[in-house]
Amino acid sequence: LSSGYKQVREEEKSRLVGNVFSSVASSYDLMNDLMSVGLHRLWKDRLLLLALTVSLVSKLNPFPGMKHLDVAGGTGDVAFRVLERVKSVGHRAMQGTLTDSEEDTHIYVCDINPNMLNVGKKRATERGYNDEHCLSWIQGDAEALSFEDGSMDGYTIAFGIRNVTHIEKALSEAYRVLKRGGRFLCLELSHVDVPVFKQIYDVYSFSVVPTMGELIAGDRQSYQYLVESIRRFPNQEKFAQMIQEAGFERVEYENLVGGVVAIHSGLKL
Ligand code: SAM
Repeated sequence: LSSGYKQVREEEKSRLVGNVFSSVASSYDLMNDLMSVGLHRLWKDRLLLLALTVSLVSKLNPFPGMKHLDVAGGTGDVAFRVLERVKSVGHRAMQGTLTDSEEDTHIYVCDINPNMLNVGKKRATERGYNDEHCLSWIQGDAEALSFEDGSMDGYTIAFGIRNVTHIEKALSEAYRVLKRGGRFLCLELSHVDVPVFKQIYDVYSFSVVPTMGELIAGDRQSYQYLVESIRRFPNQEKFAQMIQEAGFERVEYENLVGGVVAIHSGLKL
């Protein structure tokens, strides 16, 4: 009985997640900016900055010619940042003695939801990336990726893994598609553990966010789901342990804004 119940819960979660992102796709950017007071842009910058900090093991180190996979990346936000980094490294290399292999660079954006992928494709056109052959938009599930074993230099997932039904499967797929030496980076809403701030954050997320969802996106239920999914997601330590269990080494994390968001990283060695 309990496994049947679990299966129903899982099917319900997949369906709910599908509905949520189909419903929020058109107002996604506006709601993201409002709910995070624009901070999600800085957090995504930080994901790449962290990736560039030489002293940290968590170094994505975008380079011309790299193969990068951004999962649950519908909006293209992370993919565009990776592409910009690759281009800037490529231009610096051109001025030096290194050969520019920018043309071999490929960034794959994978998302389960076609509406979210359309948001990203539209933004790519707006940003003048329509002639970029190095960007591919692929509909797919984080739990069953269509990419070959050991084919990626980097893997990112921003605000996505929380929505996946079986987190372990997504982690094991991330490990599978990465090359040896490849980097896993995950940006996710996480758990606040700072006493007074925690209470303020709880009121904000449980009352303000669903109300904003209702008033701005006309969809209270989806935003209620988003808030509840944050609470159900494993805390920073537990998630780090899950990443390790998937096979990654040198796993570490960094909290941003007291744990509202955490960046986890790991290496496939
Ligand atoms: N990464 C983007 C960003 O930071 O702006 C989008 C994040 S959005 C909150 C979460 C995304 O995860 C949605 O686009 C949704 O369609 C996608 N998603 C949910 N479950 C997924 C799955 N199993 N596989 C791939 N993508 C999934």
